[in-house]
Amino acid sequence: AAGPGGPPPKAAGVPGVKQIIAVASGKGGVGKSTTTANLAVALATLGMKVGVLDADIYGPSVPKIFGITGKPKLVSGRTLAPMEAYGLKIMSIGFLIDEETPMIWRGPMVISAITQMLREVAWGELDVLVVDMPPGTGDAQLTMAQQTPLAGAVIVSTPQDLALLDARRGVAMFRKVEVPILGIVENMSYFICPECGHRSDIFAHGGARREAERLRIPFLGEIPLAMQIRETSDSGRPIVASDPGSAHAKAYVALARQV
Ligand code: ADP
Repeated sequence: AAGPGGPPPKAAGVPGVKQIIAVASGKGGVGKSTTTANLAVALATLGMKVGVLDADIYGPSVPKIFGITGKPKLVSGRTLAPMEAYGLKIMSIGFLIDEETPMIWRGPMVISAITQMLREVAWGELDVLVVDMPPGTGDAQLTMAQQTPLAGAVIVSTPQDLALLDARRGVAMFRKVEVPILGIVENMSYFICPECGHRSDIFAHGGARREAERLRIPFLGEIPLAMQIRETSDSGRPIVASDPGSAHAKAYVALARQV
């Protein structure tokens, strides 16, 4: 233990779990959960044992993305069995708080819920646990980043300036709690018309790469805005699992290789 004046204590690790990685974004709606899910499946296709922990208190969407219905069962005492889909072990705050819980209560519940999801779930042996963080950089996010023994964080952003401004705040937050930034992903980076092949940079393009260079952090890659990514994600079949041969799936696997 650190003596007086030593560095602040780090959150203890989770037995059996080799690494915990956060996927974060400065604001909602940029595709953080879609990226989390596809990245997790991609890591599994690379031969890793992977878990997903959905800590997004504002809109837990991991159950829907993986098509999971039902609730986790108690295995012993307070310990829950994770749900499973596509070979991944999955736990979501959506299983623990009901949608009617007022937002104001969710903040304080976050810390006890994250502790419970980390330590009172029978994760078994995992090479990596991917955490879908709540969007933003408020107190809840900061505390969560501090209390979770994170090996690193991936930041998801769309290319527009406003989104990048928020992403920069996300980078600053993780730096503050001394969590290494693994890099930035540019989601909805460009659009290729499936009819004519014309490319449109709907939200501009390349902003995240420039931002990564500016902040001296790795740029992890570009994921296009694509109907198939939206459809598979919204229907419980992430594209890396449902169409592994597609170019989009390969883009997520390329991302996974760098994380
Ligand atoms: P967040 O977790 O940042 O709020 P989501 O992952 O829930 O964002 O994505 C928001 C919406 O955008 C969802 O309907 C999702 O299917 C869609 N989406 C995310 N990434 C892409 C993409 N690259 N192409 C098309 N749709 C996407």
